Amino acid sequence: MRNYVAVSCLVLLGSFLPARGQSPPASISSCAAKLLRPAESLKSEGVFADQNIDVGYYRLDLTLQPASSSLRGSVLVRCTSLVDSLTQISLDLNGGMKVDSVTSGSARLSFSQYPLGLIVTLDRTYRRGEMVTLVVVYGGLPAATGYGSFEFASQGSSPWIWSLSEPTGAPDWWPCKDTPTDKPDSVDIVVTCPSPLKVGSNGSLVEVRDNGNGTLTYHWAERYPIATYLVSLAVADYVVLTDWFHYSPTDSMVILNYVLPTSLVSAIQPLGFVPSMLQFFSDKYGLYPFIREKYGHAQFGWGGAMEHQTMTSTSNFTEGTLAHELAHHWFGDMITCANWPSLWLNEGFATYSEALWQEWRHGEAVYRADMRDMMPNAKAATGTLYVQDTSTVATLFAYDRVYAKGAWVLQMLRHVLGDSTFFRTMRAYADDPRFRFKSATTEGFQSVCEETAGTAMGWFFSEWVFGEGYPHYLFSWKVAKVADGFDVTVTLRQKNPGSNPAFFTMPVDIALSSPERDTTVVAFNSVNGESFHYLLPFRPSDVSLDPGLWLLREASIDSGGLPVSFTLDQNFPNPFNPGTTITYHMAQRAGITLAVYDLLGRSIATLAHGTSEPGTHTVQWNGTDNAGRRAASGVYICRLTSEAATLTRAMILLR
Ligand SMILES: [Zn+2]
Repeated sequence: MRNYVAVSCLVLLGSFLPARGQSPPASISSCAAKLLRPAESLKSEGVFADQNIDVGYYRLDLTLQPASSSLRGSVLVRCTSLVDSLTQISLDLNGGMKVDSVTSGSARLSFSQYPLGLIVTLDRTYRRGEMVTLVVVYGGLPAATGYGSFEFASQGSSPWIWSLSEPTGAPDWWPCKDTPTDKPDSVDIVVTCPSPLKVGSNGSLVEVRDNGNGTLTYHWAERYPIATYLVSLAVADYVVLTDWFHYSPTDSMVILNYVLPTSLVSAIQPLGFVPSMLQFFSDKYGLYPFIREKYGHAQFGWGGAMEHQTMTSTSNFTEGTLAHELAHHWFGDMITCANWPSLWLNEGFATYSEALWQEWRHGEAVYRADMRDMMPNAKAATGTLYVQDTSTVATLFAYDRVYAKGAWVLQMLRHVLGDSTFFRTMRAYADDPRFRFKSATTEGFQSVCEETAGTAMGWFFSEWVFGEGYPHYLFSWKVAKVADGFDVTVTLRQKNPGSNPAFFTMPVDIALSSPERDTTVVAFNSVNGESFHYLLPFRPSDVSLDPGLWLLREASIDSGGLPVSFTLDQNFPNPFNPGTTITYHMAQRAGITLAVYDLLGRSIATLAHGTSEPGTHTVQWNGTDNAGRRAASGVYICRLTSEAATLTRAMILLR
């Protein structure tokens, strides 16, 4: 999912847009909140999410009535009993939907409806492993919770209807067991609507039937496992743009785009990228998971986009949005976060995949810029990446956290593992039978990382997924001449504002450079205040930490109270008569000469010569030369020299 609510809201307000990478100002957040529906409190899953059954199949057979903003129809639920004696089944369904009947075969079943669900008493007791089929006939005005789980709108004079169930809005319009951990293997979505509206939905289009009464029936069949929140429909007077993904010399998959006539001009060019995106992500993560069906887009009216399985719903067709939603088909749709606190497994992965697409298409510099733009948001993430508060869509889908920081955590994992192991890990995760077409938790993903990396990775996930904040590095360095080169000592400290964790174990790149040469080394920093020694064939004049910006971090020179560089202050007082004070600062121990010259370059007085310790030093000049004579009025140059640099200041003596 990508949320542009704040942006569309800005248009309404005529306010200003935040620059990329900046947090929207507070006024926008509150504005976004106003667009949300009341009763925002989210459940972590369906209230019932009946643990006694395993659902294998749903058939939704719905008739949309735009004139009354209502729908009527039936949902067939086929499930298997997971208990020894199953006598009732609970389904999640918003009480706004009135149930007319529930049947099982020819038996009419009794049921009780509650505000958030339906409890059905079965015709007999079902044993473990036995299959039960229910048909719920119902209808009403669907509620629109979250970001608007079911909307009746219009486009010109024509109806425009769509669903957006993520995270827990599916029961607002159809009865189901609403949890990402119980995906049916198969769903049929049969929708009847006024002609000539077209219906976009999941899976393959089996049939379009003209009912001869001014209505059309669209039958879509999804034959891959699908989470209930990904079951969708989008209905409007669309133009259908068809394209193809040629994934082998002999095989192709259709791409169906349902676009409003008014958006055709802006949609056609970016939609042209989709076959290359399908190829790119197939190369990275394994062949597009729903290859026997299709990919596509259906335009909807919510100000963002949503990765509805095999048919993304979107309000815009920008390249970034298209890449994000397509990447979700591996991470989100094929492998779904097992619970909403683990949402970063969907959103962090899709957001990072967007950056990978940029890297592939536009080069590393654009990838770097993309990640750098996201950095302030990732740093602004509150709490842990594992979402503690899933009570509203605003907290669950907070951009800074699950999107920006989620993507940054994957970039850091790439840095920790190295490119080859990182991409092997992503591929192995997508291929893993424990998660493929099922759901996953952070621990599941971690286990794949550990298998590919061949090492324990708990420290990384504890810090970055279950911990808060990011490290604030203070670093210092010194150089000593040794027999066979230069011994460079780099010391890393962390002064982190938070305590969870108080210290981040991470590999940190350190660049050591002189004007002529440079080298980058990796310090695996696992202890606070750790020092690393490097023997170099040259004397570095500069040391920088994480120059490639791989880490979410702050970094500054650790002065430890000492000067951070070799500097010469302006003398004081100046002009002066008869004496003045000269102050200089040493970052490290070195041989120096401090001397006064006239403007012709003649040496007047030597004030200091020899080894000077790190720290701040003051020297008096009483206005006399080396022979003890009073110097004349005029401008003098104070010059401080060391092996590394020469610093000068002009001083004025007024007699
Ligand atoms: Zn997303």
